[in-house]
Amino acid sequence: MKKYNKNGQLEAVICNSCGKKLVVDKGIVREGAMAIDHAWDYFSEKDGQVHHFDLCEECYDEITAEFKIPVDVEEQLELL
Ligand SMILES: [Zn+2]
Repeated sequence: MKKYNKNGQLEAVICNSCGKKLVVDKGIVREGAMAIDHAWDYFSEKDGQVHHFDLCEECYDEITAEFKIPVDVEEQLELL
């Protein structure tokens, strides 16, 4: 989950899975994190809902390690 200060700047990112508070400096997350923002559609049981959560890199690794089919990984051509 993300917390913003009253100026709309990112203040905190907390891993929804383990509760770890990630390092945020000047509105930017300074460690590995994944943000999920998913709009469920008509074909789901959650039509009209948008779900948001954040994972730290350790939880991401744990969760994806349980996948029967591994995550597709490709190298970015240009690091932004
Ligand atoms: Zn975590």
